Amino acid sequence: MTDPRRNLPAVDALLAEPELVGLLATHPRALVVRAVRETIDRARANGGAAPHEGWSEAARARVAELAAPSLRRVINATGVVLHTNLGRAVLAEPATQALLRVASGYSGLEYDVARGTRGSRHTHCRDLLIELTGAEDALVVNNAAAALLLVLSALARDGDVLVSRGELIEIGGQFRIPDILARSGARLVEVGTTNRTHPDDYARAIGPATRLLLKVHPSNFRVTGFTSDVPANEIAALAEARGIASVYDLGSGLLVDLSTWGLAGEPTIRDALASGVRAVVFSGDKLLGGPQAGIVLGKNAVISACRNDPIARAVRADKFTLAALEATLALYRDPERARREIPVLRMLTATSEELRQRADELVRALPARARAKSEPGQSEVGGGSFPGAPLPTTLVRLDADQPSADTLAARLRASDPPVIARIDADRIVLDPRTILPGEHQQVATAVRAAFDG
Ligand SMILES: *Cc1c(COP(=O)(O)O)cnc(C)c1O
Repeated sequence: MTDPRRNLPAVDALLAEPELVGLLATHPRALVVRAVRETIDRARANGGAAPHEGWSEAARARVAELAAPSLRRVINATGVVLHTNLGRAVLAEPATQALLRVASGYSGLEYDVARGTRGSRHTHCRDLLIELTGAEDALVVNNAAAALLLVLSALARDGDVLVSRGELIEIGGQFRIPDILARSGARLVEVGTTNRTHPDDYARAIGPATRLLLKVHPSNFRVTGFTSDVPANEIAALAEARGIASVYDLGSGLLVDLSTWGLAGEPTIRDALASGVRAVVFSGDKLLGGPQAGIVLGKNAVISACRNDPIARAVRADKFTLAALEATLALYRDPERARREIPVLRMLTATSEELRQRADELVRALPARARAKSEPGQSEVGGGSFPGAPLPTTLVRLDADQPSADTLAARLRASDPPVIARIDADRIVLDPRTILPGEHQQVATAVRAAFDG
């Protein structure tokens, strides 16, 4: 018997097929050649069988795959508002516009336009942050992990940093407080126990090498039962009395009080500053609803020490971050406008009535075969914010037995744009809370296609 692998087409022969010649007019030759090679290699690995869709079609599909961007827009139907894997905060319209403006032209990033002299990128969001929070000074870097690294390096390099054992957390994505601390050049001194830490634990551990007391908001979990921690104001007072620094890693940067909407327990930025710590650190793309960024607010001396630390240069924010953050912050000058226009806040404060209506609209747009029905459920804040907070929503459940939930989920992910759904009790559920205005029709189309196979 002859080996079918000997009948595989030659690369040049496939490239000469009319369909592939057409592709060469719209795609770089190297890309088409690579796609053709990979298509043949795949067939060889399959024992030499020709692709069932035909050679040209298989090569064309591979070209399309290779040419598609890897970072694509997706529709988040999971109901997790700050979904780290899906890019966290969706930007407000003015922030998107600001990004476009600085992306498509030059900008005064480090230029004092009035004086015609060199300026500093650190000036851009600074005044707004001070205005909105009452902090003495502010610094924006690439993300909150970097901000914490920077503050620890600037304030405690070669010294001891005291942290409660209950706050030695891992956030995800390899962010662990002890590791960041080690890289900053400071030494970690653990105080207290996992469930209980008292003011005395800090007081007794302070020694000649102690430079800083670090308070970390344990963002993504809750310890319940026999627990106690030391509030930031007591940590700040103790640190001041002993002449050392105190820093509060807040994680999420909540600028407005959301307790009216049933979201309580997450400290606001103002609360954190009012505790008297010398610096507060938080993310730009969690509850603040802006771009990925790390923000340090605090005393003049602390922020200038941070600016002068060599790590500041390594973790500096780029012009896109600064442009989008400035536009996001400007919305907070009118808190009600911020709530309406910043997608994260709009999603978190959507009313039950609104969510029910949107779920019902979606149900009506879906094919009968999907056996879609709306039902009460829960959304999630995500991003390690408000863990366990109730966020009641109306879900759309696809109750059809066939195809299976896994098959449907895979087909929804394969649609363009991909729709990311949740599976609950063997059924696909879609949460209208995170489906953006204008995406409903795309979701309906994707569901219809998923049932068509
Ligand atoms: C999320 C979080 C961070 C990291 O923030 P990034 O902006 O993702 O780097 C740091 N500390 C706490 C407490 C957090 O919740």
